[in-house]
Amino acid sequence: MKALVLERKGELSLRDFDIVEKMGPQDVRVQIDVVGICGSDVHYYTHGRIGPFVVNEPMILGHEASGVVLETGSEVTHLKVGQRVCMEPGIPDPTSRPSRLGKYNLDPAVRFWATPPIHGCLRPEVIHPADFTFAVPENVTQAEAAMVEPLAVGLHAATKARVKPGDVALVTGAGPIGLLTALSALSAGCSHVYVTDVIREKLELARSLGSVTPLHAVDDDVNGAILSATDGWGVDVVFEASGNARAAAGVFDPLCPDGTVVFVGMPLEPIAYDVVAAQVKEARVEHVFRYAHVYPRALALMAGGGIDVKPLITDRFDFEDSIRAFEFAAAMPPSSVKAQIEL
Ligand code: ZN
Repeated sequence: MKALVLERKGELSLRDFDIVEKMGPQDVRVQIDVVGICGSDVHYYTHGRIGPFVVNEPMILGHEASGVVLETGSEVTHLKVGQRVCMEPGIPDPTSRPSRLGKYNLDPAVRFWATPPIHGCLRPEVIHPADFTFAVPENVTQAEAAMVEPLAVGLHAATKARVKPGDVALVTGAGPIGLLTALSALSAGCSHVYVTDVIREKLELARSLGSVTPLHAVDDDVNGAILSATDGWGVDVVFEASGNARAAAGVFDPLCPDGTVVFVGMPLEPIAYDVVAAQVKEARVEHVFRYAHVYPRALALMAGGGIDVKPLITDRFDFEDSIRAFEFAAAMPPSSVKAQIEL
């Protein structure tokens, strides 16, 4: 079938690709509708690797997908042919120790779309375990359903933060994950969220998302503004979603005593970590790696109106224009957040 293939670092082609997937009794065959382009897809395209994961042979990209069920395995009961769905891209070994502990995102054997050597979903069809395929509510569009994957990261981060009603949070970084984390923090009960970035267009979009104060990470006195707005106390939660070394090293400065830091972004290099700054506040520090069974919550929040991701879907491309879409995403204009490909 025709697929968007990363041949090697810097070289994409839209071509026929032989992919053998066997339909099992607990699988569904899904026609792909919409695939969001993720920073990780772009990074494999521009750098050929992320940490230990290296693109050594041609790989189909894409992991943020929605579609329609074409066929169900004989043991599948919760999905029907014609049903709109979205898919979790990571399939763990259900018998692994992390899976049995309820932390299947930490299973080292997880097979995750478009993480070498596993192929992604930028192709007309996939066969997928029904257990990792979720029915999309009637009032949620296929484009929104393709946002469930990155939203799940933000919701997982808010859950790890143990947000309480009325908490104030800071999100550093206004990329897709930062903005989805801000929306997640608000839906979890934060009364107000500060968002920092260096791109003014992204900060303006952040402002439009609700009770959000955007601050420029370099030109504004971020810590001064937060401390003066909170009677010198600081924010209850800092979500580090930029992956930027300077932002990551400064997470304890605007934090209140006994506050929580959640590391969401992935710095490319090890960062400075100020133990004493964390100690004097007895900061609780959490980390997230993807998510575990967050899709039902994400879909319920979208359907109930608690979270609206539509303002973040800024650019759409046809499947035929997939290569152009990736070139666009690799040099994203400041006003763009999430680009999606429609099949
Ligand atoms: Zn992603």
